[in-house]
Amino acid sequence: MERVIVPELLGDGISAELSESVHAVAKALPFPVAFEPVDLSWERREHGFKEAYDEAEAKIRAHGIGLKYPTATVRESPNAQLRERLHFSVIHRPVRTLPGVATRHSGKVDLHIVRIATGGTYDDAGRRIGKDVAVSVRVIERKPCHEAALFAFRLARRLGTGVISTSKYTIQRMTDGLFEEEVKVVATKFPGVAHRCELFDALLAHLFMRPEDFQVIVTPNEYGDFLSDAACGMIGSMGLGASASYSFSSEGDALVGMFDPAGGTAPDIAGKGIANPTAALLAFAMLLEHAGHAETGRALEAAIHGAIEAGEKTRDLGGSLSTSDFTAAVASRLKLP
Ligand code: ATP
Repeated sequence: MERVIVPELLGDGISAELSESVHAVAKALPFPVAFEPVDLSWERREHGFKEAYDEAEAKIRAHGIGLKYPTATVRESPNAQLRERLHFSVIHRPVRTLPGVATRHSGKVDLHIVRIATGGTYDDAGRRIGKDVAVSVRVIERKPCHEAALFAFRLARRLGTGVISTSKYTIQRMTDGLFEEEVKVVATKFPGVAHRCELFDALLAHLFMRPEDFQVIVTPNEYGDFLSDAACGMIGSMGLGASASYSFSSEGDALVGMFDPAGGTAPDIAGKGIANPTAALLAFAMLLEHAGHAETGRALEAAIHGAIEAGEKTRDLGGSLSTSDFTAAVASRLKLP
């Protein structure tokens, strides 16, 4: 069987342990996976960060995929560097209730947040005008709106569901208006996929009250940022999910996909063998789905959920398993296609 080549960007803190866990699970798959490591640790970046990013960019471009582990932001932000170099325009963040993880919220969340990765209020830090006034420019560009909408509608069609676009289009009439206008253009190409707009503030309240009403949401950068964290709060964890960043061809097909766990570098537990690899394994599952092994990716996700639901948990979730024991529990639950 053809092997999958995965450039992996190794970072700081618990990065090495997370990577070991992914390698162990990869060995249990029915096809060979070859990892091509790139050292993106601060130790390396400190002494020549251009070379480190050049290597990461080249390897990811060569294979169209990459798996990124947590990196410390000391000087430059590795995520921002990679986004600029690889022209990531869309971030896909699935947020799902994890059975067996305590939450204050009783509703079941199974949500895909499709967020424009650039612009909004995040591209301009603003400037002071005199002592008491500051301004910043908010940027909405048609191209990433189009790409995000296309991604969302294709995803919704695959999942057999609709798309909700959300922004403050009644107030930000030009900027969010342009976003919603482009979503509507894309919607016309997907007559079988229902679409409606919802104002962002109302959507938050609606989501907290009835999360089961939401499947695929597409939104500009900053709203997507707020929404991702809010949804993670609903499922009881900021660090158990993964996200994917994509760049696209002119036809809207993904050129490059980079997958990364949501959590940070956790220097306080690095090297102790107790880190929870769930998010890294979910990132790997997303990568497999994207790389043409959809069933294997979904099987891996199911194995992770199954292990946690059965109480096979690492310490951060109230269990007692080490990183490698949890990894073994996941691997043993893999029901491969
Ligand atoms: P960074 O600056 O990279 O964000 P941080 O330690 O400030 O690092 P996180 O990495 O998000 O922020 O960690 C916050 C807390 O959650 C820490 O106590 C850390 O040990 C814990 N934590 C984070 N990731 C994991 C993980 N994968 N497994 C177990 N505990 C984790």
